[in-house]
Amino acid sequence: MSNYSDLVRIAGVVPESVVDGPGLRAVVFFQGCPHHCPGCHNPETWDPQGGEGVSPDEVWRRLHYHPLLSGVPFSGGEPLAQPAGALALAKKVRAAGGNLMIYTGYTWEEILTFTSPEIKELLTLTALLVDGPFLLAQKEPKLLFRGSANQRIIDVPSSLAQQKVVLWQEKGGGRDGLAITGGAGD
Ligand code: SF4
Repeated sequence: MSNYSDLVRIAGVVPESVVDGPGLRAVVFFQGCPHHCPGCHNPETWDPQGGEGVSPDEVWRRLHYHPLLSGVPFSGGEPLAQPAGALALAKKVRAAGGNLMIYTGYTWEEILTFTSPEIKELLTLTALLVDGPFLLAQKEPKLLFRGSANQRIIDVPSSLAQQKVVLWQEKGGGRDGLAITGGAGD
C-alpha cells in the first residue's frame, strides 16, 4: 500500500457534483488504483505515478468548500491507497462540518483487516462508504451512487457500532433531504 505522507496524489477535483452521493458535494478523485476493474470508467486514475502530488491544504483550496455543500466523497482511483493523505483531507472535511463518503475497491471485510492506524482513524470520520470493485457482470446503471450490484452503500458509524455491515437507507429530512450522520462521534 502506497503512502505519500504529506502529499496527496490526485487525478483532480470537482467542486460541485450531484452524482457522487446524496446532496451537493465536492469530489476528490485520488490517483492510483491497484484494482484494475475491467470496465472501469476512470482507468486514467490507475497509475500511482500519474495525476499530480499536492498538499492536503492545496486540495482543500481547490475544492472551494462552502456551507451549501453536504460533504465530500473521496473517489478514484483508490483513496485507501493513500491513508495519510486521505486522513489529512478527511479532518479538513469534518472541521468544515461536512460529511465524508469514501468510494473504495476494497470490501468492508477487507478494510477491517487493514492494520494502518490512519485507515482506522479515517473510518471513524466517515459517514458512508461504497465498497468493493466494479464488476462488469453485475453492472447496473440504475443503482444509486454506484456502478455494480455487488457494491454496497455502508452506514459506517452504525456498522462500527454494531460490528456488522449496516447498509445506508435513504431517509427523509435533513438539509439535502437525506438524513446521514457525519461519522462516528456525531
Ligand atoms: S476500484 Fe474504482 S477506480 Fe479502481 S479500477 Fe475499480 S472501478 Fe476503477
